[in-house]
Amino acid sequence: MIILRNIKVPYDKDEKFLSGEIAKKLNKRDFNYKIYKKSLDARHEISFVYQVIVDLDLADIDKKIIKRLKNNIEEFHEDKLEVENINKIKSAVIIGTGPAGLFAAYLLAKKGVKVTLIERGKKVEERLRDIDTLHETGKLDENSNVQFGEGGAGTFSDGKLTSRSKDKRVSHVFEIFVKNGAPEDILYEQKPHIGTDILRNVIKNIRQDIERKGAIYKFSEKLIDFEICNGKINKIITDKGEYSADCYILAIGNSARDTFVMLDKYDLIEQKPFAVGFRIEHLRKNIDKAQYGMISEKLPSATYQLNVTDKEEAHSVYTFCMCPGGYVVNSSSIKSQLCINGMSYHDRRGENSNSAVVATIDKKIYGEGNLAGMNFQNEIEKKAYKMGGGLAPVQRVKDFMENRATEKLGEVLPTFKPGYVFADLNEIYPESINHAIKNALKLMNRRVHGFCSDDAILTGVETRTSSPIRIVRENYRSEKLKNLFPIGEGAGYSGGIISSALDGLKCAMEILEGEKEC
Ligand code: FAD
Repeated sequence: MIILRNIKVPYDKDEKFLSGEIAKKLNKRDFNYKIYKKSLDARHEISFVYQVIVDLDLADIDKKIIKRLKNNIEEFHEDKLEVENINKIKSAVIIGTGPAGLFAAYLLAKKGVKVTLIERGKKVEERLRDIDTLHETGKLDENSNVQFGEGGAGTFSDGKLTSRSKDKRVSHVFEIFVKNGAPEDILYEQKPHIGTDILRNVIKNIRQDIERKGAIYKFSEKLIDFEICNGKINKIITDKGEYSADCYILAIGNSARDTFVMLDKYDLIEQKPFAVGFRIEHLRKNIDKAQYGMISEKLPSATYQLNVTDKEEAHSVYTFCMCPGGYVVNSSSIKSQLCINGMSYHDRRGENSNSAVVATIDKKIYGEGNLAGMNFQNEIEKKAYKMGGGLAPVQRVKDFMENRATEKLGEVLPTFKPGYVFADLNEIYPESINHAIKNALKLMNRRVHGFCSDDAILTGVETRTSSPIRIVRENYRSEKLKNLFPIGEGAGYSGGIISSALDGLKCAMEILEGEKEC
């Protein structure tokens, strides 16, 4: 097989055009191909750029053609995930069914390990009902919400499946998604996206797949403590029982604050920097126009990723978790506290596009102590809840820049449900954060025209961009407890659905094949 790169297809042409281009480049008629990568080039004439795998050998291609195509053609070898249970691991308890926990469970169960998954939240179908109630009434279930429940934090998200990892095993994560109902294009799109509507179903299918491999799920059950003996966990204690296994995987996500307190008791964690800010909403059509110079139903809703490091400012500011055609959602997991995030459906055709605009913070803002960052998050979320009185505090960008509460909206309407109140978001964070965000909004406007437009809407508060703690580990193992494997975003080693899933997969490989025993 060969890989052929850099094949340009104008945005308004279909796949027939692509096969024609391949035929022309190789001077061949008879071949099969599959798309390997597809990206959008919006710099000059808008086009899609493809890499394809063709079922021909390099020896079948004219030497002059190979010379002409230079680096754009070479032999291709498929990568296989070959793992054996060399360490003869019999059983594992996994706490948390977010992507990190699920992908660790998937591989361990596939290799014959008896896996038990403990999840404080509910099955995805039941969780959906609780989240609908949250959106309709503002009533929060502290164990079944956008953060907690089957599939973890990303289940009610934009379902962006991007990852910066160059690790080849990422492709196995995508294959497992596709095998369980995700669209095939995630295997090759440069910015794969699935949307919350499809992702929920994939999570359910992955559960059934893992159960068929012999694993047991325990929903609505929370890890509350460990029993420790000679530097190892002897058993874990939940609010409903106790479990013993050869190894324990902790995949609890970035919002398990009560569990972080328990881990601190055993001196397993340290604080780490993270970022806080607001979510910004623009009209989708304005972002599309700014990014493409045109609006077309044939193009995907436009994305952006912006960052500003200004030496004059105390904080770097960046956009995060951009949701084209998406919605701003309540992602709190504690009553009388508010934090928000973004989600979208597969079609990404909502009226607005949103993203988080967040400033990096560290102990200069929240002080010393393993849990200082988490305590700061709590304080901010309480302020935001009080300001909104159960709804979300929102402000026009112009009013934020001029330090006054909004009195009337312009062309952008907030999407947060069940509703919003007008506020002055300057009252939430320390001044250095507000200052850095204001400066960044103006600079970001140079990159995406209209980003800092008067009528864009800010909603507060975005506090859970990443974990405020790190569960210290070396080669996937806790430094202090030999048979404990902290993984995923909560442990501070990944950020996002794919990197968390990959961390889970790699941890399972370490357990099965690593040199050290559990
Ligand atoms: P989580 O997914 O957080 O899973 C942790 C699980 O552990 C949860 O199910 C929780 O209930 C459970 N748990 C916690 N404590 C306990 C306990 N004591 N006992 C038992 N169970 C426990 N990332 C992207 O890549 N793309 C996106 O589009 C995207 N959008 C997002 C939108 C929203 C609204 C949110 C909140 C996040 C989004 N993210 C997105 C981030 C992404 O969801 C996380 O990076 C990812 O889910 C982290 O995976 P994880 O497995 O480490 O933890």
